[in-house]
Amino acid sequence: MIGVLGGTFDPIHFGHLRPALEIRQALGLREVRFIPLRQAVHRYQPLASADQRLVMLQAAVAGEAAFRVDDRELRRAGASYTYDTLVELRAELGAEEGICLLLGADAFTGFLSWYRPNDILELAHLVVMRRPGDAMMVEADLRVWVEPRLCLSAAELDQAPAGLVLFQDVTQLAISATSIRRLVAEGLSPRFLLPDAVIALIEGAALYR
Ligand code: ATP
Repeated sequence: MIGVLGGTFDPIHFGHLRPALEIRQALGLREVRFIPLRQAVHRYQPLASADQRLVMLQAAVAGEAAFRVDDRELRRAGASYTYDTLVELRAELGAEEGICLLLGADAFTGFLSWYRPNDILELAHLVVMRRPGDAMMVEADLRVWVEPRLCLSAAELDQAPAGLVLFQDVTQLAISATSIRRLVAEGLSPRFLLPDAVIALIEGAALYR
């Protein structure tokens, strides 16, 4: 079973990396793939270029053997749809291997407005990285949608390659790329919010100033 974490990664930070590691261990994933998107569908466009975001990601995951960076969305023209990416991954991995789409709680609350959410669930499980104790304000229609697919333990995910939803507790790290960009723009240090190797790249390219 593999995990897939998509995002703008503008820049990647410990709020992505630590939950990804905890989920990998809790679910026994053989790999977590970080997939930077080229063009966001629902949000502002990234400040760093595709190449810069890719290099920062590669620097961040270096040394963590089970973490891989997958640049397919950067190479694909136009908006990046998770559905398209999962169709490709499913074709490459075959029908049997479990795929877990990892989502932060904020991304999950808007999931039903994504492109083809039902088809996404045919291709992958959803694993929501929940903050411990987080009540999560989930709208009624999303709650109804999740209900029949909900599983209560990581072990249940092994029963099928796709189609289940799991809420997995992860250490709460209130770090966002937005707050890091703001610190850098104000001339303040973002140290200990993201890997030093990523900070060196940000400084070297005078990013987010
Ligand atoms: P921005 O501040 O620019 O919106 P971000 O820090 O939220 O960026 P993204 O690249 O948009 O980062 O996030 C990719 C994925 O990681 C999303 O599913 C998001 O919910 C999740 N995520 C981001 N930050 C955290 C965090 N601190 N804890 C858990 N999940 C996170």
